[in-house]
Amino acid sequence: MRIPFIAGNWKMNLSVDEAINFLNTINGKLPDPKVTETCIAASPLFLESMLEHNTNSPLIIAAENCFYEDEGAYTGETSPKALAEMGVTHVIIGHSERRKYFNETDDIINKKVHAAFRNHLTPIICCDETMSRRQSADRISWVVSQVTNALKSVTAQQAKNIILAYEPSWAIGSGKTASTDEAEEGCYLIRQTIADLYSDDIANQVRVLYGGSVNDDNADDILAQTDIDGVLAGGASLKPDSFLKLANFL
Ligand code: PGA
Repeated sequence: MRIPFIAGNWKMNLSVDEAINFLNTINGKLPDPKVTETCIAASPLFLESMLEHNTNSPLIIAAENCFYEDEGAYTGETSPKALAEMGVTHVIIGHSERRKYFNETDDIINKKVHAAFRNHLTPIICCDETMSRRQSADRISWVVSQVTNALKSVTAQQAKNIILAYEPSWAIGSGKTASTDEAEEGCYLIRQTIADLYSDDIANQVRVLYGGSVNDDNADDILAQTDIDGVLAGGASLKPDSFLKLANFL
């Protein structure tokens, strides 16, 4: 049994005060983490205050990104080691916005995945799919290659703990969510790739999320799909009410 994972990705939104108000509002209203795990990924500027306010809450506080080195002369970067020392446990890696605006390649993403494991952070690895890729003949191989390249030299033991997300960029922030069939197909493809790379057993343990214009209206149908273990929501995670509806599958 895979525990559903409901994650929000705030991106570069909200202020520290709004982040703390959000945590205060949802406090005590989240599901039991044995039933559903919940997570918010936020700017590194907010993480310390959020962690301080998050005691006695099952909410997982995640980073939206990290660098692939632990320390050194890398002006402006976020150290995965510092994140872990702060108490962060999860990190999103390879979001399509990182791939698009910050030129993150599969090679960089693979290095970040190893940096996460080196620092005992759980990577939430995103696989993109642009509309032109979706309409092209190499669509499947592109999703497969993103998973394969992100997991180069990742051991079976490590692979068990990863979380993957099918995040077609044509559905992100567009209000045009993938149909349930399209979302299921993308998540199934990712799970099959894990089975091919490792084993059916590991593929059955790994959680695969769907992300792209998820909201409290469409989440139920998406979450009912066989290979979808949760969602990664951007816009719908910014308001406590809508995040709580997602978290409680209302
Ligand atoms: P969205 O973003 O829900 O606003 O489409 C999803 C994401 O980027 O993870």
